[in-house]
Amino acid sequence: MTHIHVVESGSVSDGERESIVRVLDECYRRMGSLSPSMVELNIYESSFAMDASLSREKAALGVETGGVDSTFLAIHEAWRGYPRISVCLERMMAQPRTIAEAAVRHEAGHSAIHGSPEFYVLPLPTALLEANEVFPRFSGVSRMSSYLIFTSVKDYEVTRLLCALGYVKDQAVFARRFAKPSGEDFLAAHLARRSREATALLCASWLKNVACLPPFLGDPEYSVRAARWLGEASRALPMPLRPKLTHIVKNDFPLLGGDTFQNIQSLAQVFKQEILSEIWVDGEGKRGAR
Ligand SMILES: [Zn+2]
Repeated sequence: MTHIHVVESGSVSDGERESIVRVLDECYRRMGSLSPSMVELNIYESSFAMDASLSREKAALGVETGGVDSTFLAIHEAWRGYPRISVCLERMMAQPRTIAEAAVRHEAGHSAIHGSPEFYVLPLPTALLEANEVFPRFSGVSRMSSYLIFTSVKDYEVTRLLCALGYVKDQAVFARRFAKPSGEDFLAAHLARRSREATALLCASWLKNVACLPPFLGDPEYSVRAARWLGEASRALPMPLRPKLTHIVKNDFPLLGGDTFQNIQSLAQVFKQEILSEIWVDGEGKRGAR
């Protein structure tokens, strides 16, 4: 039985608090022995308060990257050594109930399988260290790429877990929402054409956006729709990389096993081999090349 320690910021009604706790509680019961013994649940009335509080925590603890995105409805981290979920009521209320509840379950999944600090520090995977050597211009974006690959793996693992627990319909809606490219994604893809480093980041960022889709590609009920969502998402990618990235989503994610750190090494290896080698295919910027 998971102890949920609630901390409120701003005006949070009893009903709002109870509806979030109810979703978490039910999810942890379904997880059984996987559920954490305790989780801190921070409920923020406003997005401003949530962003400010998380930024303060990052600065105080020296957290380098990740974890704060001004569009997140909810986030999970374990920067202080225990699992902590932060929820923004203002953003939640702007979403359909299914999405809001799916987001809370997604964070519950992280708290169960990524609930300790080692999942939030970022040693560069071996393949990206090698990439820094082979493609020196990549080194300026390797840390951010590593963060995005790390997040992709964790999001995939959480979705795989939640689907296995029977949360298929809500997680499919959630996965699609994050995979769907926005106008900003198309603009970013257009701008990234000017720089190979920006293209590398665009690809890692795209993998993070679609990382919740793979479990649905193999689901009898969702496979056709998930393939269509992946196709829609891939339209925001530059052409030579499009088939390579969709191949990774269809074929490499499903091969990932139960060890998060091994999974990160594997995905980073594929990213170097298939994506970075394609971006720097002519060797421009390569150590030793003119
Ligand atoms: Zn996540």
